[in-house]
Amino acid sequence: MRLTKSTDIALRIAMRLAVLGEGENPTTREVAESVGVPYTHAAKVVSRLQHLGVVEARRGRGGGLMITFAGRTGSLGLLLRELEGIGDVVGCEDEPPCPLRAACRLRGALRTAQEAFFAALDPLCIDDLVASPTGPVLLSLTARPAD
Ligand code: SF4
Repeated sequence: MRLTKSTDIALRIAMRLAVLGEGENPTTREVAESVGVPYTHAAKVVSRLQHLGVVEARRGRGGGLMITFAGRTGSLGLLLRELEGIGDVVGCEDEPPCPLRAACRLRGALRTAQEAFFAALDPLCIDDLVASPTGPVLLSLTARPAD
């Protein structure tokens, strides 16, 4: 199973924000550059993370992005379910639809496997992902324009 690029970017951004100290509130452009993704893509992902309550954007002087407590400590599996959706792993209903879709044991098996994938991530949270050795690497990242 392969995650979408948007989900990967969302996790990178959340991890980067999770290692920053109090009062370190980067702009979306700064975060995008530090994790090596295009600004336009990062902006869409940040908007989605705000909607999910993972990230807050503070306006004004000293404003910028910060990860919320819920974003740090919430279940990684639940976050991925939100970001990825829980549709079919393969395109059973694509055009043209698969002729086996009404009675396909493979479809059911893939759904079970997909849920097992998410369930394996349920006990983890973003804070778990930024423990050493990842955290120090995240802190060392410098902005490199990706656009
Ligand atoms: S064979 Fe089954 S799992 Fe594969 S596309 Fe068809 S319905 Fe879906």
